[in-house]
Formats: sequence, C-alpha cells, structure tokens
Amino acid sequence: MSPLSVHQYTYLSDNYGVLLHCAKTGETTCIDSGDATATLNALKKTGWNLTNIWVTHHHADHTDGVLEIKQATGATVTGPEPLSAPIQGVDKTVSDNDTFTFAGFTVRAMHTPGHTKDMINYYIEEEGLLFAGDTLFTMGCGRLFESDANTMHKSLSKLTALPENTIVYSSHEYTLANAKFALSVDSENPDLQARFQHVETLRANGEATVPSSLKEEMATNPFLRASDNRIRAFLNMSDATDAEVFAEIRKRKDNF
Ligand code: ZN
Ligand code: FE
Repeated sequence: MSPLSVHQYTYLSDNYGVLLHCAKTGETTCIDSGDATATLNALKKTGWNLTNIWVTHHHADHTDGVLEIKQATGATVTGPEPLSAPIQGVDKTVSDNDTFTFAGFTVRAMHTPGHTKDMINYYIEEEGLLFAGDTLFTMGCGRLFESDANTMHKSLSKLTALPENTIVYSSHEYTLANAKFALSVDSENPDLQARFQHVETLRANGEATVPSSLKEEMATNPFLRASDNRIRAFLNMSDATDAEVFAEIRKRKDNF
C-alpha cells in the first residue's frame, strides 16, 4: 500500500486545497493556498506537520496564504519561476521537467502555460498523481489570461500524454458549469451524458467532483477532445487543426 494520502479541503468560494502526506516519513506538502486559515485548519484536523508548499501559479487564490503558512510551519516553498509575477515566500523555483524528491518519491514539474505564463503542475509518476492547478479542471480547462489557445493546447497535450489512470487534482469546483458547456458541443457523447447525471447528483449532495481520472477527462472533457470527429463535425471544423478546434471550443466557453 502506498504511504501517501491526500486530504482535500475547500476554501474561498470554490477553491480546493490539497494536503499530501507520507505516513512513512511524516512529510506533508500543501499545494497552493489562497487562505492560510483554511490550510492551517486542515493541518490541525489531520494532525499533519507541514514540511513543504508547492505553488502552481501566481494568482491570489493560490498564493495569498503562502507566506503566513510558511511562517507558521517553517515549510519550504517550491514554485514557478517568476514568468508572470513574483510569488512571495518561494525558496526554490522549478521549471519544466525539473524533478525533486518528496518523501522518497520523484516529483516532476510540468510547465503548462496557458491560464498563466508561470503555471507549473506537479506530477508523481510512481503514484499516478497530478496536481493540475488551473490548467485542467474536471470537464474544463483554465481561462486564457496570459497565453494564447495554441500554447494552452500544447500544455494540455502534455497532460494527456500521461497514463490514463492518472488521478487529477484541480483547484476549483467548476464542474456543473463545465458539464453544461460540454453538452453544448458534445451532446451525443454517451459518456458525457452519464457523467453529467453523476456530477449533478454529487453536487446536489454537496460532494466534490475533484479529483477525477485522466481517462474520464479524455472521454468527457471537450477541451481534450479537439480531435473527436463528432465535435469537429458539430463545429463545422472537420478540416481544421486540433489547436484551431481547441481555440474555438475555448472561445465558445468564454461566451457561454
Ligand atoms: Zn488561476
Ligand atoms: Fe484559481
């Protein structure tokens, strides 16, 4: 059995925070924090001692709590290079494909620009765990604030090259809106229809739709399905490139 376990908690209006803990070494990392109190409460609840913080990107809802948590716990902060804006408290920057060790596991930094220029996702291959920040959401992807659709399409392609049983932790509960949009471009997809029902039930019961598996995302997330013939036909883009189809889907979602 894996010594790693994940505790997911909510903060602000729709953010998910994550604590990753190793039962063998006692090390604990949190991925992002926009709310120090919520993260410190999650630590109290689990009884875990924070040793590390991994930051995905500079947005306030991912970084506002970092300095206070660092001061309260003495955790070491890993984050992206300041390609967008500096992040307070970062001790060590990582760029694409850099690896480091956490509790004996190799963690790979994956640079996935699109939502922001600085976005880093954290991937633990041995455990099939991906912390995707605001790049890939359950049935959605991040808005393009700092890069173009081409760049985001390339970034998502890096993620879809990972094994399909990879578990994707993303940072927001946007799933119901994402699912409604997905149906608007991929209405005849039976996997999507079934998943829509499922996430509606989960949300009605106040349950999280995060994490999800890459396999589920490939089957139902329109932003990963630009090569799908039914979607291309629906958009009248049968001859377009995948990146062009992705750009059109992203544009439609922005106006949905
Ligand atoms: Zn963001
Ligand atoms: Fe965010």
